[in-house]
Amino acid sequence: MKPKIQKVAVIGTGTLGSQIAIHSAYHGYDVSAYDADPKSLERVLRLIEVRIANSNRKPVIPLKEIQRQAKKIKTGANIEEAVREAELVIEAIPEDLRLKRRIFKQIDLYAPKKAVLATNSSSIPVSRIESATHRPERCLNLHFYSLDLGRNIADVMGGTKTPRQVLEIGKEWVRSIGCVPLTVNKELLGFCFNRVWRAVKRETLHMWAGGYADFKDIDRGWMIWTGMSQGPFGIMDAVGLDVVYGIEMVYYGESKDRRDYPPPALKRMIERNQLGVKTGKGFYTYPDPEFKNLNFLNP
Ligand code: NAD
Repeated sequence: MKPKIQKVAVIGTGTLGSQIAIHSAYHGYDVSAYDADPKSLERVLRLIEVRIANSNRKPVIPLKEIQRQAKKIKTGANIEEAVREAELVIEAIPEDLRLKRRIFKQIDLYAPKKAVLATNSSSIPVSRIESATHRPERCLNLHFYSLDLGRNIADVMGGTKTPRQVLEIGKEWVRSIGCVPLTVNKELLGFCFNRVWRAVKRETLHMWAGGYADFKDIDRGWMIWTGMSQGPFGIMDAVGLDVVYGIEMVYYGESKDRRDYPPPALKRMIERNQLGVKTGKGFYTYPDPEFKNLNFLNP
């Protein structure tokens, strides 16, 4: 099916935004981007190399191609420059509702009136962001996963006014960049598959922080059971522990249930700048984490 969208803008080219931008460029879209840190794309390309080296999953597109496509992305000096011709804008800035609302307001100001605005948030329903714009009927959640590690799925969810046609535009675009859309029929914090992954994160973090089990044993069990090359703690390191913490806080903010509060031990790791792969240390040490050793599964 011919994509309805030709020009895509990505705001925030950190871990996930850069991957969305690169995959869009690879699939023939004209991609522009803006990040508050002009070096973000460069930084993430180095990170992707480490992430791919630590995984036995085939990336959706090969590393060499990822590096080549990154060069095609037009980086704007500000949001206005990045979005002024876009037909679809994806926001992938940190998981902070106030910040996302502020950026959506700016995107709305400068993007063409017909442009569809999507958030890659891992937990915040777009219904909480859409009122920062004058076009709630063109807003939706498009939540991607680690494309560099072959996780080519995206949760798709509308806001309070998103019509079916706009959801279809989103789904068609998701398919056109090699991903499988997972539709959320009724608003749900955490969307579709991400809610499954979140249950794993919550349980495993509390088991570790409560001293019930060593995180390495939890990862071993997971790796043997699923055949994956990383366990939940290795995956959280790849996501970024600051990002994981931010997402858990959104769940806690919603439920106010102490059992949803992320463990203080996780917060302390973040304060020590142990953010995972991106800072070289998280639960494991990078670029050669212990779970890559041949005897990790059978110590
Ligand atoms: P990240 O920290 O790697 O990147 C965020 C980027 O946003 C940074 O490059 C930062 O410089 C930029 N930024 C911050 N403030 C900005 C501003 N005001 N204007 C423009 N750019 C700004 O974070 P990430 O992991 O890529 O997460 C981004 C979003 O994607 C979050 O909502 C997160 O929940 C979601 N997400 C992350 C993952 C993951 O695996 N990391 C997966 C799915 C969704």
